[in-house]
Amino acid sequence: MTAPVTGPALLPASMRFIQRDWLSCNQLVLFDAEGATLIDSGYVKNAAETVALVRAALATNAGALPLTRVINTHLHSDHCGGNAALASAFGCAIIVPEASSRAVADWDEEALTYRATGQRCDPFAATGSIAPGDTFRAGGVEWMAHAAPGHDPESLIFHCPELAVLVSADALWERGFGVIFPELAGESGFAEQGAVLDLIESLQPRVVVPGHGPVFADAPAAIRHARSRLAAMAADPVRHARSALKVLIKYRLLDLERERLDAMIGELATARIMVDAAGLLEMTPAAALAWAADELVAQGQLRRDGEWLVDA
Ligand SMILES: [Zn+2]
Repeated sequence: MTAPVTGPALLPASMRFIQRDWLSCNQLVLFDAEGATLIDSGYVKNAAETVALVRAALATNAGALPLTRVINTHLHSDHCGGNAALASAFGCAIIVPEASSRAVADWDEEALTYRATGQRCDPFAATGSIAPGDTFRAGGVEWMAHAAPGHDPESLIFHCPELAVLVSADALWERGFGVIFPELAGESGFAEQGAVLDLIESLQPRVVVPGHGPVFADAPAAIRHARSRLAAMAADPVRHARSALKVLIKYRLLDLERERLDAMIGELATARIMVDAAGLLEMTPAAALAWAADELVAQGQLRRDGEWLVDA
Protein backbone atom coordinates (compact mmCIF):
# COMPACT_ATOMS: atom_id res chain seq x y z
CA MET A 1 0.00 0.00 0.00
CA THR A 2 2.96 2.32 0.30
CA ALA A 3 2.98 4.76 -2.55
CA PRO A 4 5.62 7.37 -1.86
CA VAL A 5 5.36 10.62 -3.74
CA THR A 6 8.85 11.29 -4.94
CA GLY A 7 10.33 14.19 -6.80
CA PRO A 8 13.67 12.91 -7.98
CA ALA A 9 16.34 15.48 -8.63
CA LEU A 10 16.35 14.10 -12.16
CA LEU A 11 13.10 15.92 -12.93
CA PRO A 12 12.38 19.66 -12.89
CA ALA A 13 10.01 21.20 -10.35
CA SER A 14 7.27 21.34 -12.98
CA MET A 15 7.07 17.52 -12.92
CA ARG A 16 6.12 15.27 -10.02
CA PHE A 17 6.76 11.55 -10.31
CA ILE A 18 4.57 9.25 -8.23
CA GLN A 19 6.02 5.76 -8.02
CA ARG A 20 3.46 3.01 -7.45
CA ASP A 21 3.69 -0.74 -7.10
CA TRP A 22 3.23 -3.31 -9.80
CA LEU A 23 -0.58 -3.44 -9.76
CA SER A 24 -0.79 0.27 -10.55
CA CYS A 25 1.52 1.99 -12.97
CA ASN A 26 3.44 5.13 -11.97
CA GLN A 27 1.99 8.58 -12.44
CA LEU A 28 3.62 11.73 -13.74
CA VAL A 29 2.01 15.07 -12.84
CA LEU A 30 2.99 17.98 -15.09
CA PHE A 31 2.30 21.44 -13.71
CA ASP A 32 1.35 24.52 -15.70
CA ALA A 33 0.01 27.87 -14.51
CA GLU A 34 -3.52 27.07 -15.63
CA GLY A 35 -3.67 23.48 -14.40
CA ALA A 36 -1.98 20.11 -14.31
CA THR A 37 -1.75 17.16 -16.70
CA LEU A 38 -1.53 13.61 -15.41
CA ILE A 39 0.05 10.79 -17.38
CA ASP A 40 -1.64 7.44 -16.64
CA SER A 41 -3.89 6.60 -13.72
CA GLY A 42 -3.14 3.17 -12.21
CA TYR A 43 -5.33 0.13 -11.58
CA VAL A 44 -8.98 0.37 -10.55
CA LYS A 45 -8.36 -1.29 -7.18
CA ASN A 46 -6.12 1.65 -6.21
CA ALA A 47 -8.30 4.36 -7.79
CA ALA A 48 -9.17 6.12 -4.50
CA GLU A 49 -5.50 6.11 -3.53
CA THR A 50 -4.60 7.53 -6.96
CA VAL A 51 -7.12 10.36 -6.53
CA ALA A 52 -5.67 11.11 -3.08
CA LEU A 53 -2.07 11.07 -4.34
CA VAL A 54 -2.92 13.36 -7.24
CA ARG A 55 -4.89 15.68 -4.95
CA ALA A 56 -1.88 15.87 -2.63
CA ALA A 57 0.46 16.61 -5.55
CA LEU A 58 -1.86 19.39 -6.77
CA ALA A 59 -2.13 20.90 -3.29
CA THR A 60 1.60 21.11 -2.71
CA ASN A 61 2.24 23.10 -5.85
CA ALA A 62 0.86 26.64 -6.21
CA GLY A 63 -2.13 26.05 -3.95
CA ALA A 64 -4.90 23.85 -5.31
CA LEU A 65 -4.16 23.67 -8.99
CA PRO A 66 -6.92 22.06 -11.09
CA LEU A 67 -6.26 18.76 -12.83
CA THR A 68 -7.24 19.63 -16.37
CA ARG A 69 -6.53 16.35 -18.15
CA VAL A 70 -5.34 12.78 -17.98
CA ILE A 71 -3.37 11.48 -20.94
CA ASN A 72 -2.96 7.70 -21.22
CA THR A 73 0.08 6.10 -22.80
CA HIS A 74 -2.03 3.00 -23.42
CA LEU A 75 -5.18 1.45 -22.05
CA HIS A 76 -3.98 -1.61 -20.20
CA SER A 77 -5.95 -1.91 -16.96
CA ASP A 78 -3.01 -0.78 -14.80
CA HIS A 79 -2.64 2.47 -16.76
CA CYS A 80 -6.23 3.74 -17.01
CA GLY A 81 -8.05 2.17 -14.05
CA GLY A 82 -8.17 5.52 -12.25
CA ASN A 83 -9.58 7.43 -15.24
CA ALA A 84 -13.22 7.18 -14.14
CA ALA A 85 -12.46 8.18 -10.54
CA LEU A 86 -10.22 11.08 -11.61
CA ALA A 87 -12.81 12.37 -14.10
CA SER A 88 -15.43 12.25 -11.36
CA ALA A 89 -13.18 13.87 -8.73
CA PHE A 90 -11.68 16.62 -10.89
CA GLY A 91 -13.92 16.94 -13.97
CA CYS A 92 -10.76 16.56 -16.07
CA ALA A 93 -10.50 15.68 -19.75
CA ILE A 94 -9.48 12.11 -20.61
CA ILE A 95 -7.18 11.78 -23.62
CA VAL A 96 -6.50 8.30 -25.00
CA PRO A 97 -4.39 6.93 -27.86
CA GLU A 98 -6.36 7.48 -31.04
CA ALA A 99 -5.96 3.83 -32.05
CA SER A 100 -7.88 2.83 -28.90
CA SER A 101 -10.60 5.48 -29.00
CA ARG A 102 -13.19 3.39 -30.85
CA ALA A 103 -12.84 0.56 -28.31
CA VAL A 104 -13.30 3.08 -25.48
CA ALA A 105 -16.37 4.66 -27.10
CA ASP A 106 -17.94 1.20 -27.48
CA TRP A 107 -16.47 0.07 -24.12
CA ASP A 108 -15.34 -3.10 -25.90
CA GLU A 109 -13.76 -5.09 -23.06
CA GLU A 110 -12.46 -7.70 -25.48
CA ALA A 111 -10.60 -5.15 -27.63
CA LEU A 112 -9.44 -3.34 -24.49
CA THR A 113 -8.03 -6.72 -23.30
CA TYR A 114 -9.71 -6.71 -19.87
CA ARG A 115 -11.69 -9.86 -20.61
CA ALA A 116 -8.74 -11.41 -22.44
CA THR A 117 -6.47 -10.99 -19.40
CA GLY A 118 -9.01 -11.53 -16.60
CA GLN A 119 -8.45 -7.97 -15.31
CA ARG A 120 -10.85 -5.20 -14.32
CA CYS A 121 -11.33 -1.58 -15.31
CA ASP A 122 -14.02 0.99 -14.47
CA PRO A 123 -15.63 2.22 -17.71
CA PHE A 124 -14.76 5.81 -18.54
CA ALA A 125 -15.46 8.23 -21.39
CA ALA A 126 -12.63 9.67 -23.48
CA THR A 127 -12.95 13.35 -24.32
CA GLY A 128 -10.13 13.41 -26.85
CA SER A 129 -7.35 11.39 -28.43
CA ILE A 130 -3.68 11.62 -29.27
CA ALA A 131 -1.80 9.99 -32.14
CA PRO A 132 1.86 9.39 -33.01
CA GLY A 133 3.39 12.67 -34.20
CA ASP A 134 1.02 14.81 -32.10
CA THR A 135 2.54 17.28 -29.67
CA PHE A 136 1.20 18.79 -26.47
CA ARG A 137 2.49 21.28 -23.90
CA ALA A 138 2.62 20.22 -20.27
CA GLY A 139 4.95 21.03 -17.41
CA GLY A 140 6.05 24.12 -19.32
CA VAL A 141 7.55 22.13 -22.18
CA GLU A 142 6.50 20.48 -25.41
CA TRP A 143 6.06 16.71 -25.70
CA MET A 144 5.78 14.55 -28.78
CA ALA A 145 3.88 11.28 -28.91
CA HIS A 146 5.67 8.38 -30.58
CA ALA A 147 4.17 5.01 -31.49
CA ALA A 148 5.53 2.25 -29.25
CA PRO A 149 4.12 -1.08 -30.49
CA GLY A 150 5.56 -4.31 -29.12
CA HIS A 151 4.08 -4.58 -25.64
CA ASP A 152 0.81 -3.11 -26.91
CA PRO A 153 0.25 -2.28 -30.60
CA GLU A 154 -1.61 0.92 -29.64
CA SER A 155 0.79 2.24 -27.00
CA LEU A 156 2.41 5.64 -27.14
CA ILE A 157 5.47 7.03 -25.41
CA PHE A 158 5.99 10.74 -24.81
CA HIS A 159 9.26 12.54 -25.43
CA CYS A 160 10.31 16.05 -24.40
CA PRO A 161 13.25 17.03 -26.67
CA GLU A 162 13.96 20.24 -24.74
CA LEU A 163 14.68 18.42 -21.47
CA ALA A 164 15.49 15.02 -22.98
CA VAL A 165 12.88 13.35 -20.77
CA LEU A 166 11.08 10.24 -22.01
CA VAL A 167 7.85 8.83 -20.59
CA SER A 168 8.43 5.24 -21.64
CA ALA A 169 5.25 3.49 -20.39
CA ASP A 170 5.82 -0.29 -20.58
CA ALA A 171 8.21 -0.12 -23.54
CA LEU A 172 11.28 0.33 -21.31
CA TRP A 173 11.77 -0.04 -17.59
CA GLU A 174 15.08 0.17 -15.77
CA ARG A 175 15.14 -3.64 -15.79
CA GLY A 176 13.00 -4.90 -18.64
CA PHE A 177 9.66 -4.12 -20.34
CA GLY A 178 6.11 -5.44 -20.45
CA VAL A 179 4.93 -8.77 -21.86
CA ILE A 180 4.94 -8.71 -25.67
CA PHE A 181 1.22 -9.48 -25.96
CA PRO A 182 0.89 -9.70 -29.77
CA GLU A 183 3.34 -12.63 -29.83
CA LEU A 184 1.01 -14.65 -27.58
CA ALA A 185 -1.64 -14.36 -30.30
CA GLY A 186 0.80 -15.42 -33.02
CA GLU A 187 1.28 -11.85 -34.24
CA SER A 188 4.53 -9.94 -34.57
CA GLY A 189 5.67 -8.07 -31.47
CA PHE A 190 9.33 -8.86 -30.83
CA ALA A 191 10.41 -7.04 -34.01
CA GLU A 192 8.27 -4.02 -33.08
CA GLN A 193 9.72 -3.97 -29.57
CA GLY A 194 13.22 -4.06 -31.05
CA ALA A 195 12.36 -1.07 -33.24
CA VAL A 196 10.97 0.79 -30.22
CA LEU A 197 14.26 0.23 -28.38
CA ASP A 198 16.09 1.60 -31.44
CA LEU A 199 13.78 4.63 -31.40
CA ILE A 200 14.40 5.23 -27.69
CA GLU A 201 18.14 4.96 -28.25
CA SER A 202 17.93 7.52 -31.05
CA LEU A 203 16.04 9.94 -28.79
CA GLN A 204 18.96 9.84 -26.32
CA PRO A 205 16.87 10.51 -23.22
CA ARG A 206 18.68 11.96 -20.23
CA VAL A 207 15.88 10.84 -17.92
CA VAL A 208 13.39 8.01 -18.39
CA VAL A 209 10.07 7.99 -16.53
CA PRO A 210 8.88 4.37 -16.84
CA GLY A 211 5.42 2.90 -16.30
CA HIS A 212 6.74 0.75 -13.45
CA GLY A 213 9.78 1.05 -11.20
CA PRO A 214 11.95 4.08 -10.49
CA VAL A 215 12.87 6.98 -12.73
CA PHE A 216 16.32 6.36 -14.17
CA ALA A 217 19.06 8.20 -15.98
CA ASP A 218 21.09 5.41 -17.54
CA ALA A 219 18.98 4.75 -20.62
CA PRO A 220 21.84 3.05 -22.52
CA ALA A 221 22.20 0.42 -19.77
CA ALA A 222 18.44 -0.16 -19.67
CA ILE A 223 18.34 -0.51 -23.46
CA ARG A 224 21.23 -3.00 -23.41
CA HIS A 225 19.47 -5.08 -20.76
CA ALA A 226 16.16 -4.89 -22.66
CA ARG A 227 17.81 -5.96 -25.92
CA SER A 228 19.34 -9.03 -24.32
CA ARG A 229 16.00 -9.98 -22.76
CA LEU A 230 14.24 -9.43 -26.06
CA ALA A 231 16.75 -11.61 -27.90
CA ALA A 232 16.18 -14.40 -25.36
CA MET A 233 12.40 -14.10 -25.78
CA ALA A 234 12.56 -14.11 -29.57
CA ALA A 235 14.81 -17.18 -29.43
CA ASP A 236 12.33 -19.02 -27.20
CA PRO A 237 8.72 -17.78 -27.65
CA VAL A 238 7.41 -20.67 -25.54
CA ARG A 239 9.44 -19.43 -22.59
CA HIS A 240 8.00 -15.95 -23.16
CA ALA A 241 4.48 -17.46 -23.11
CA ARG A 242 5.23 -19.32 -19.86
CA SER A 243 6.51 -16.18 -18.26
CA ALA A 244 3.49 -14.20 -19.54
CA LEU A 245 1.09 -16.69 -17.97
CA LYS A 246 2.88 -16.40 -14.64
CA VAL A 247 2.87 -12.60 -14.84
CA LEU A 248 -0.87 -12.59 -15.55
CA ILE A 249 -1.74 -15.01 -12.73
CA LYS A 250 0.45 -13.16 -10.24
CA TYR A 251 -1.19 -9.92 -11.36
CA ARG A 252 -4.66 -11.40 -10.87
CA LEU A 253 -3.78 -12.45 -7.31
CA LEU A 254 -2.31 -9.02 -6.58
CA ASP A 255 -5.76 -7.73 -7.50
CA LEU A 256 -7.98 -10.38 -5.86
CA GLU A 257 -5.52 -11.33 -3.07
CA ARG A 258 -7.05 -14.83 -2.85
CA GLU A 259 -8.98 -17.00 -5.26
CA ARG A 260 -9.84 -20.69 -5.50
CA LEU A 261 -7.82 -22.38 -8.26
CA ASP A 262 -10.94 -24.00 -9.73
CA ALA A 263 -12.73 -20.64 -9.77
CA MET A 264 -9.74 -19.01 -11.48
CA ILE A 265 -9.65 -21.75 -14.10
CA GLY A 266 -13.41 -21.34 -14.58
CA GLU A 267 -12.96 -17.60 -15.13
CA LEU A 268 -9.84 -17.66 -17.27
CA ALA A 269 -9.97 -20.88 -19.30
CA THR A 270 -11.84 -19.05 -22.07
CA ALA A 271 -9.97 -15.73 -21.75
CA ARG A 272 -8.34 -15.09 -25.12
CA ILE A 273 -4.80 -14.35 -23.98
CA MET A 274 -4.77 -17.35 -21.61
CA VAL A 275 -6.04 -19.62 -24.41
CA ASP A 276 -3.39 -18.29 -26.79
CA ALA A 277 -0.55 -18.63 -24.27
CA ALA A 278 -1.67 -22.16 -23.34
CA GLY A 279 -1.70 -23.03 -27.04
CA LEU A 280 1.95 -22.02 -27.32
CA LEU A 281 2.68 -24.31 -24.38
CA GLU A 282 0.71 -27.09 -26.13
CA MET A 283 -1.45 -27.41 -23.03
CA THR A 284 -5.16 -26.98 -22.37
CA PRO A 285 -5.92 -23.61 -20.75
CA ALA A 286 -6.89 -25.37 -17.51
CA ALA A 287 -3.61 -27.32 -17.42
CA ALA A 288 -1.56 -24.24 -18.28
CA LEU A 289 -3.25 -22.16 -15.56
CA ALA A 290 -2.70 -24.92 -12.98
CA TRP A 291 0.93 -25.20 -14.09
CA ALA A 292 1.46 -21.43 -13.77
CA ALA A 293 -0.09 -21.44 -10.28
CA ASP A 294 2.19 -24.33 -9.24
CA GLU A 295 5.24 -22.46 -10.50
CA LEU A 296 4.29 -19.28 -8.67
CA VAL A 297 3.77 -21.25 -5.46
CA ALA A 298 7.15 -22.96 -5.92
CA GLN A 299 8.77 -19.54 -6.39
CA GLY A 300 7.09 -18.12 -3.27
CA GLN A 301 5.06 -15.59 -5.27
CA LEU A 302 1.81 -17.27 -4.22
CA ARG A 303 0.95 -19.70 -1.47
CA ARG A 304 -1.75 -22.32 -1.13
CA ASP A 305 -4.39 -22.33 1.56
CA GLY A 306 -6.32 -25.55 0.87
CA GLU A 307 -8.10 -24.99 -2.44
CA TRP A 308 -7.21 -21.32 -2.39
CA LEU A 309 -4.35 -19.45 -4.00
CA VAL A 310 -3.20 -16.54 -1.89
CA ASP A 311 -0.91 -13.69 -2.91
CA ALA A 312 2.36 -13.97 -1.01
ZN1 LIG B 1 0.86 -2.23 -20.39
